[in-house]
Amino acid sequence: MIKKILIANRGEIAVRIVRACSEMGIKSVAIYSDADRHALHVKKADESYNIGSDPVIGYLNAHNLVNLAVASGCDALHPGYGFLSENPVLAEICAKRDIIFIGPSAEVIQQMGDKIEARKAMIAAGIPVIPGSEHNLESVEEACELAKNIGYPVMLKATNGGGGRGIRRCNSEEELIPNYDRVVSEAGKAFGKPEVFLEKCIVNPKHIEVQILGDRFGNVVHLFERDCSIQRRNQKLIEIAPSPQLSDSQRRYIGDLAVEAAKAVSYVNAGTVEFLLDSDNQFYFMEMNTRLQVEHTITETITGIDIVQEQIRIASGLPLQYKQEDIRHWGYAMEFRINAEDPKNGFLPSFGRITRYYAPGGPGVRTDAAMYSGYVIPPYYDSMCAKLTVWNLTWESVVERGRRALDDMVVYGVKTTIPYYQEILQHKEFRAGTFDTSFVEMHPELTHYVVKPPKDRLAAAISAAIAAHLGL
Ligand code: ADP
Ligand code: ADP
Ligand code: MG
Repeated sequence: MIKKILIANRGEIAVRIVRACSEMGIKSVAIYSDADRHALHVKKADESYNIGSDPVIGYLNAHNLVNLAVASGCDALHPGYGFLSENPVLAEICAKRDIIFIGPSAEVIQQMGDKIEARKAMIAAGIPVIPGSEHNLESVEEACELAKNIGYPVMLKATNGGGGRGIRRCNSEEELIPNYDRVVSEAGKAFGKPEVFLEKCIVNPKHIEVQILGDRFGNVVHLFERDCSIQRRNQKLIEIAPSPQLSDSQRRYIGDLAVEAAKAVSYVNAGTVEFLLDSDNQFYFMEMNTRLQVEHTITETITGIDIVQEQIRIASGLPLQYKQEDIRHWGYAMEFRINAEDPKNGFLPSFGRITRYYAPGGPGVRTDAAMYSGYVIPPYYDSMCAKLTVWNLTWESVVERGRRALDDMVVYGVKTTIPYYQEILQHKEFRAGTFDTSFVEMHPELTHYVVKPPKDRLAAAISAAIAAHLGL
């Protein structure tokens, strides 16, 4: 069994992994850049090591991280999400140095990280895949030719993309031609690889993804689906499990399909198979994420299964402790990504000092945060500073619980997406449980809320003054 884990990440996900370690009696080792010296994950882990003055480079240096894991007596490394989590080189170096990588093999990370290779593997396995390229595009002429065959609108996508970046919808050849160079350049800048491909654009689809777990003995189970259709610019904002938009037979179908997809690539550890559901109720494979996802919390909430602990058990070589028929889901869970952004100003990041933070509480409420009162959010990283997950028995009651918990949550000092989410929860389409990936774009008026003044301004001012005085 694994005894000590280096957490090659930061923020809320590093805190999440520390918690799993602690419950399993495993020691945790945090890493931090100078900018993260006062970060919560550093305070929570058993040990911590500085990885340099640059805010980002240290988190991306696979060799150094594995050296540090060896030097600090770790037997395993957890990559979290983002950073090097889908970089096959890290998994490879770990394998060479006898450090257990908590994730799938380097080969599978490589294969599924390349969306063309992933599509090929799924087509070979008989999984329905969005119609599109069979290989990377060589030129804009080839793109136009293929788009004509597929039919507009089409999606131009970075082959090695992630995080919703490097994706553009093209409604006509006039749009495709200029977008081609743009996406090639975005892909090169964001992912270091300029390859792009085309897919048919599924108009106003629902994003339905399935959480799977596979062990080293070929067993694969699914933990049901998540509906991540509430997105802005292809980035998820609110996620729901199970989807209020699926029938039981659709749920069974998609769960089985995800297990088949995972088995087709001999998948080991936790992973997610993402699908789009079109208006004719047809599911299409979109991509597979070979790591823990941001929104794993809602699946944990409806199934009671701790996915991070399962990841660690699987990586230790243990067989899955659940058969498919042992896995049940109960009620509905909803996650809100609390981003330090100003929805009223184009979702511009709003970094700075959190003068006051109260986590919401009460029944059916979970927070995964990387902040505390007095914490200064550094400007170098993702703007997500917390995740709020709520649970309740029915769809109607989980919406109410979300509203109440968002109201309970106090974050002063920076602007956040909290008031925006309150507006979404009031919207009748959302409340009716019928929405697709166009919801956010179709409702720009939801950012026109009036900001309420804090209920306890004086207390906020005093805690800000104390925090500043202590140099927190
Ligand atoms: P999830 O797939 O878990 O819902 P996101 O797509 O929101 O999560 O990504 C989580 C984090 O990981 C974000 O900070 C995102 O920018 C980053 N990320 C995801 N994929 C990649 C990638 N291929 N390259 C770089 N960063 C990525
Ligand atoms: P990433 O790796 O960045 O997560 P995905 O391929 O998962 O990229 O796509 C992210 C989002 O972009 C999807 O959830 C969906 O909203 C939108 N999208 C991607 N491909 C298509 C498509 N072919 N048709 C319609 N929407 C798409
Ligand atoms: Mg995706």
